[in-house]
Amino acid sequence: MGCILVIAAENSDENRVSPGERYAKTYEINMLRCIFCGYCEDACPVQAIVLGPEYELSDTSREKFIYTKEKLLEPLPPDVQARLDSKSKDSK
Ligand code: SF4
Repeated sequence: MGCILVIAAENSDENRVSPGERYAKTYEINMLRCIFCGYCEDACPVQAIVLGPEYELSDTSREKFIYTKEKLLEPLPPDVQARLDSKSKDSK
């Protein structure tokens, strides 16, 4: 088992998550296996993965080292969110 688990799902007209044909329904990083090589950051075509300064990790259970999509997602910077909001208003 590797450091990243990705389970893909198909986009559909009823449930479009991303512009492509498929999206990562499950995306988890096992931080106990991560060696901070940066390959995931290099491989991502849309710069969605960015390694940060956190590297001294400790916790009370192994499960807490499984970083899910929800845990990995950062809120959008305010200026980017404002642009997206204005685009969605323009398209209505
Ligand atoms: S930095 Fe390297 S080891 Fe860590 S999750 Fe990305 S590809 Fe895996």
